[in-house]
Amino acid sequence: MQWSLLSSRVLASCCKFTPFMLASLFVLPAQALPAAQSNNTARAKAVTDWCTPLVARLPKVSLNDCRASLLKPTGINSFNGFPILSRELPADARHPHAIKALLIGGIHGDEQTASAIVFKWMESMQKGPVEFNWKIAPIVNPDGLLAKQPRRVNARGVDLNRNFPTPEWQKEAPAYWARVTRKDPRRYPGKAPVSEPESRWIYETIEKYKPDVIISVHAPFGVLDFDGPNDPPSRFGRLVYNRVGVYPGSLGNYSGVHKDIPVVTIELPNATQMPPEAEIQRIWVDMQKWIRQNITPPVRTANRR
Ligand SMILES: [Zn+2]
Repeated sequence: MQWSLLSSRVLASCCKFTPFMLASLFVLPAQALPAAQSNNTARAKAVTDWCTPLVARLPKVSLNDCRASLLKPTGINSFNGFPILSRELPADARHPHAIKALLIGGIHGDEQTASAIVFKWMESMQKGPVEFNWKIAPIVNPDGLLAKQPRRVNARGVDLNRNFPTPEWQKEAPAYWARVTRKDPRRYPGKAPVSEPESRWIYETIEKYKPDVIISVHAPFGVLDFDGPNDPPSRFGRLVYNRVGVYPGSLGNYSGVHKDIPVVTIELPNATQMPPEAEIQRIWVDMQKWIRQNITPPVRTANRR
């Protein structure tokens, strides 16, 4: 389904929009747009207001919150042509050799709080002080989030968190899916590693941005998980460390185990209901404290001293 058609349905079901108002959200009418994946860039140009459909799905995120986040299209679009949004927020002048942190929300589209809480932390960052160099992408699976019913997988039915190029992916990921998950459609790893535009964007961002640590937010298991060479966090807010598991093709396995870039997986306790405001802030404060104490300042800064 084309994103523009789908988003119209989302909007029509949630908000008081007239057909004219809906049409005015898009530069081009849906029927004028090609359906092939290769043209999803052209289709994405039709999206002029991405915040409106997003906030209809994100608990406790207002239109103003979304616009104030200053997210921008990365130039890479989801399969359905919705822009993957991100922004960088550099550390302030008191932290000239700051750690680079990549913060990702919503790799599973039906975990709405995992995207929404990133907007709340961005508000905190914008109030400052900013201790780390942040690269932030709160909604890396927009098609899953904006589906008629939010769903874990992307528009092509791929679990993006099983689509990263861990060694032996071709041998292990499809076999694990068949044998252990019994071909659970919610956990389909895809036909090849980084076969999806969304997982490829994350993969290429890791290659180019070279984060020192990755924070990936999920729900609803209510725990912390960790992959990487460092000591794991013991507690962020009420969330305590408890291994969820290592899977062929997962981001934690790919980045934390095989690339030695630590990945903290935050599993919020509920996929649709946000934690209380105080808990959102406690997780944020504890996360920064753990990064400060456990992530070694990168060599690139040591050389400059
Ligand atoms: Zn998840």
